[in-house]
Amino acid sequence: MKLTKKVLDELRVEPGSSAHLERRGTAHTQTDWLRAGTGDQSDSSRKLLAHEDLAQFVGELEVAQERLWASGTHALLIVLQALDAAGKDGTIKHVMSGVNPQGCRVVAFKQPSPVEAAHDFLWRASAAMPSHGEITIFNRSYYEDVLVVRVHPERLPQRHGNAGASEPQHFWEHRFEDINAFEHHLHRNNTRIVKIFLHLSRDEQRRRFLDRLDDPDKRWKFSTGDLVERGFWDSYQSAYEEAITQTSTPWAPWYVVPADHKYELRALVGGIVVDAIDQLDLRAPAVDPSQTDALDAARRTLMSES
Ligand code: ATP
Ligand code: MG
Repeated sequence: MKLTKKVLDELRVEPGSSAHLERRGTAHTQTDWLRAGTGDQSDSSRKLLAHEDLAQFVGELEVAQERLWASGTHALLIVLQALDAAGKDGTIKHVMSGVNPQGCRVVAFKQPSPVEAAHDFLWRASAAMPSHGEITIFNRSYYEDVLVVRVHPERLPQRHGNAGASEPQHFWEHRFEDINAFEHHLHRNNTRIVKIFLHLSRDEQRRRFLDRLDDPDKRWKFSTGDLVERGFWDSYQSAYEEAITQTSTPWAPWYVVPADHKYELRALVGGIVVDAIDQLDLRAPAVDPSQTDALDAARRTLMSES
């Protein structure tokens, strides 16, 4: 099964249109992408269907990645952005579980080191881009530079002084322009970019934080800083709204994926990634006809060993 064009269109933010995050659901897609006509749509049956779909996408992704690797002509960059506890780590673990680790890398973007902060904001991302044949997932990304630092302009590297605070619109507009130009450049050089925002509700974040605090095995995942950032919920929603609206482009579209049900979220992300590779219409490289005789001879040699 593939995600239908209708579902992909629903999740994708049309370039030039507003993201309208407040109108988008955090629990389910509007189009019921789980196999229609399956009868009972209770939570448990939805979960089961989503698990089956994810298993299928994982298998398809394994094949698609092998084609990407074999053809060696294109790279895939997956940008994952979300608030805390939206499920980035679990999504990466499940969606990429079938992929050959040789062709895949995950890069986490934390607070910039002094060396990173002494460069332009795209520098560390540029250094981490996938080479042709590879898939790289950015667990957070250069978008933090128009999200967390927009919510907290005092975290801008020193050299900006208080530019972010005193000249906001102009400053952030330039960053959006730079990101769009950067991604266009990557696209023209055969890096396909898929950007995914895991759209979580405030209530579900609260439930997941409490889960972490209540379970001794999960407590390590909670940091008190997460609660501080939760206090800026509305500012983050506005920052995401504007960043997604300004940077969803034909060459690097944003997908907003409902994140309140982890199993559905993972299946949808799997479907989006499979679709991105399918769009490349890659084939295994054809063997040069001049090599056919040599390959046949190699085969005969090996057969004669037995
Ligand atoms: P998890 O909590 O699941 O381990 P995480 O992505 O939240 O994953 P953390 O180490 O908790 O990882 O947080 C990294 C922090 O670094 C985030 O709060 C993020 O906003 C911050 N960060 C990332 N890039 C930048 C940046 N360019 N400037 C300032 N802060 C940044
Ligand atoms: Mg965190």
